[in-house]
Amino acid sequence: MTRPLRLRPERFGAIVSLQDPPALVSVDRVLARRLGVDPGGLWEQRSDGVDVDPLSAPTEVHLAVTERCGQGCPGCYADASPDGDEPSFSALVAQLERLAELGVFSVTFGGGEASLRADVFALAERARALGLVPTVTTSGAGVSAGRASRFRVFAQVNVSWDGPKPGLATVRTHESAAIAELAMARLRAAGVRFGVNFVLTRTSFAGLEELAKAAEVAGAVELQLLRLVPGGRGSAMWQSQRLRSAQVDRLGPALMKLVETRELSVRVNCAMLPLLSSAGLAPDELRRFGVLGCEAGRSLMTVDVHGRVSPCSYSHRGGQLLSVDAWSVDEALRAHRAHALSPPEPCASCDLRRACRGGCRVVARHATGDFDGLDPECPRVREFSSAQAPKESTSPSSASTM
Ligand code: SF4
Ligand code: SF4
Repeated sequence: MTRPLRLRPERFGAIVSLQDPPALVSVDRVLARRLGVDPGGLWEQRSDGVDVDPLSAPTEVHLAVTERCGQGCPGCYADASPDGDEPSFSALVAQLERLAELGVFSVTFGGGEASLRADVFALAERARALGLVPTVTTSGAGVSAGRASRFRVFAQVNVSWDGPKPGLATVRTHESAAIAELAMARLRAAGVRFGVNFVLTRTSFAGLEELAKAAEVAGAVELQLLRLVPGGRGSAMWQSQRLRSAQVDRLGPALMKLVETRELSVRVNCAMLPLLSSAGLAPDELRRFGVLGCEAGRSLMTVDVHGRVSPCSYSHRGGQLLSVDAWSVDEALRAHRAHALSPPEPCASCDLRRACRGGCRVVARHATGDFDGLDPECPRVREFSSAQAPKESTSPSSASTM
């Protein structure tokens, strides 16, 4: 193992942050002790294993640094607008200090359009000085020719792009594509490594291969595919733009084809795993796509522009104010943890449960009205629900408008 950058004691042992390759690794108590970890009183408690023990703090936090954005994208998960709230520099530095105190490893700046803040690089530098690894997701709006090289302060820059094909933009506006393309050209010219975020919808699905090729040509090193999740303005289009069942069934082979034919690395986001449950991919193969299921409340937390915590960027807002206790006492974070540990059937007996953690809670709540409901887009859930449904009627969660 290369020299650890940071070590954080946990009940099972420790989480180790490595520099080369950049990675977070969980180690047991024996190895943690050899690495010099001081567990305090943590190891006096019994460990139920790395997948089950609650973590002492999130490893990653999404920090909303603004609610402002002028692009008006119809699928914006944050419902950002030009006159949204924006915390001061000092308020955000205070949040970063709290996150460092908690032992968080990485912080993703989001919004709104984070890159439009004049002080976004100073914030990222402050995060680094506190031992946090900063990353950013951007529409490209703040990537001017003069600023492009300054994005090197971020460990990862992801540009949101609906792809080059006119007519396939659903989540963003048509104008957004040109902004993203210009930003990618500027980042590339400035030698900044970047990836592309692409939301899969029933319209954009047809452009997946072309998008991957175009992203590679544009110089992206990574393609991250995001599931359409009903948050913010995206809630209004979720029903009409979520993938059709037939597209969900084609997703696994489509991903494998991309991996085999493209140079750039292909990853999928937290909410995508349930959609791959019928693809016949073993957990090891899923790891190839960086697939981890719902990490909300497990290793992920969001802080909004008012300093309130929530499980993820798509979930409800207005939880506890960020503090050293918020991670363990916030009700929504606790509910996510509890659901993942003990989901209902068919998740309870699913081979992928440990990775998937019982499906996306935001989709489940939106589709079924029940936070603990099933994620209706998972093929395994679909099959289970239709087997359970009375022959003459169809249950709400399996109603096929897909
Ligand atoms: S609820 Fe979980 S799976 Fe859904 S978007 Fe949030 S983190 Fe991802
Ligand atoms: S059945 Fe549940 S745990 Fe299994 S993949 Fe589907 S949503 Fe995830």
